[in-house]
Amino acid sequence: MNSRGNFAPHLSLRFDSHMFSIDTSRSPKKCLQPDAYLITHAHSDHYGKSAMLSPLAIASEETARALEIRYGREYKGRTFSVGESILVGDQVVETYPTGHTIGSVAFFWENDVGTKILVTGDVKNHGSLPPCDLLVTEANYGDPWDPACRFDDDITAFGDAVDSGATFGAYAFGKAQRAVALIRGLGYGDEIGMDEQSLALTQELMPQFGPFTPAEDNGTDITDINVVTPWNLPRMRGMKYVLTGRKDLPYPRIILSDHLDFRGLMKMIEEASPEATIVYHPEGEKANRLALYLRDQGRDAISVSEVEKSFYK
Ligand SMILES: [Zn+2]
Repeated sequence: MNSRGNFAPHLSLRFDSHMFSIDTSRSPKKCLQPDAYLITHAHSDHYGKSAMLSPLAIASEETARALEIRYGREYKGRTFSVGESILVGDQVVETYPTGHTIGSVAFFWENDVGTKILVTGDVKNHGSLPPCDLLVTEANYGDPWDPACRFDDDITAFGDAVDSGATFGAYAFGKAQRAVALIRGLGYGDEIGMDEQSLALTQELMPQFGPFTPAEDNGTDITDINVVTPWNLPRMRGMKYVLTGRKDLPYPRIILSDHLDFRGLMKMIEEASPEATIVYHPEGEKANRLALYLRDQGRDAISVSEVEKSFYK
C-alpha cells in the first residue's frame, strides 16, 4: 500500500494472490502492475483520467462514458452496469451504487481467507452498501470537530429558487446532474439551460431528464432555469445561486451536497460494522481526524497517511 509519490496517489490493496489499485493513476511500466484499476467514479481527484487509458481499468458504463466526455480520450478498460458483479481473474468483485455521481460505485470482494472488503469511493447514499470486515472509506466531511462537516441539504431553498426561476452554479459533472434530477423531481418540465460541458454530460448520461438547451440561448426570461459552471455565472442574468461549497463567490449559496456529512459517514460505518477501517480519501487531516475519532470510539482505524508514516519510519 502506498499513497506517496506520483505513481499511486490513492490506494492499492494486496491480499494473497490479488492486487487491486483503487482510484489511482497508472503505475509506471517497470513497477508491479495490479490485477485491475478500479475506478469508483469520474471526478478528477480519483484519477480516472489516467487509469482510463489502461486495459486493466474497470469502471461502470456511465463512469467510462463520463471520463471520455470530460477528457476527450477513449476509455480502454472494461465496463459493468452499476450493481453487477465482475470477474477479475478468478476473483468476483461486486459493485454497489453510492449515489455520489451518475455511475458512482463502491467495490466489494471477499479475499482468499474470507475477509470481506468494501471500498466506498465517495458516498451520498450508503443504504445499499453491504456489511464488511475491512471498510476502506472516504472522509470528505469526516472531521468530527469541524462544523462545516455537519449539514443538511436545503431542498426547501432549492425548491423556492426553482419556483421563481434561477440560474444555479454547479460543477459540470456530479452536482449539475444532481440539480437537474431535483429540478425534474420538483415538477419543472420546461427546458433547462446548461453550458457546454454540463450539457454534453447531462444530455448523454440522463437523456430521460430533458429537454435541455444551451444556456447562452436562454435569453432574459426570469422564469428560465439554468445550470452552469460557477465561472459562467457572471454571464447569466436574473437570480443566481451557487450549489458548491465555495464561499468566495458573490452569490447566495444553497447546500446541495454530493456527499454524506460526518453524521452520515458514522451511520455508514455503524451499519457496515467492520472489524477495521482504513480512511483513504482525501489525503490529509480530515482522514487522520476521522481515524482518530474512530479509535476514540473503540474501533480499529487508520488513515492512509498514518500507514505511510509507519511504513517509511
Ligand atoms: Zn467525487
